[in-house]
Amino acid sequence: MNVRNCRRCGRMFNYITGPSICPACKDAAEKKFEEVRKYIRENKTAKINEIAQNCGVETRQIEQWIREERLIFASDSPIKVYCETCGAPIFTGRYCDKCKKSQANNFSSAGRPADSGSSAPAGGGDKKGGSGNKMHTFHE
Ligand SMILES: [Zn+2]
Ligand SMILES: [Zn+2]
Repeated sequence: MNVRNCRRCGRMFNYITGPSICPACKDAAEKKFEEVRKYIRENKTAKINEIAQNCGVETRQIEQWIREERLIFASDSPIKVYCETCGAPIFTGRYCDKCKKSQANNFSSAGRPADSGSSAPAGGGDKKGGSGNKMHTFHE
């Protein structure tokens, strides 16, 4: 059996997986999370240190929840989160949609070659009376 000391309260507990935090402290953290989420919903313009003070949590904990994409802020919130890759403003998490997508593309193209056979053949009847394909308005 794997017994560890809780990183927060120091009590011994049966360690299974994840961070070294006992079930009681984990529960307490979940309760805090609900409290913080509710507070943000009701106080959309609150800053991180206001939230931390009013909810009794560390700002570091709030930032961790943001990175885990558990907290999402309104567009008028003063809390700014920036993409770790390109620095674009985002509302939660660590990367903007664009960087997330290009990361996903990198992963999939490394795994298997893109199948080039599925795209529509070029020059295949663009001028046939416009059958509603309004996506193709770009010229390359
Ligand atoms: Zn504990
Ligand atoms: Zn980005």
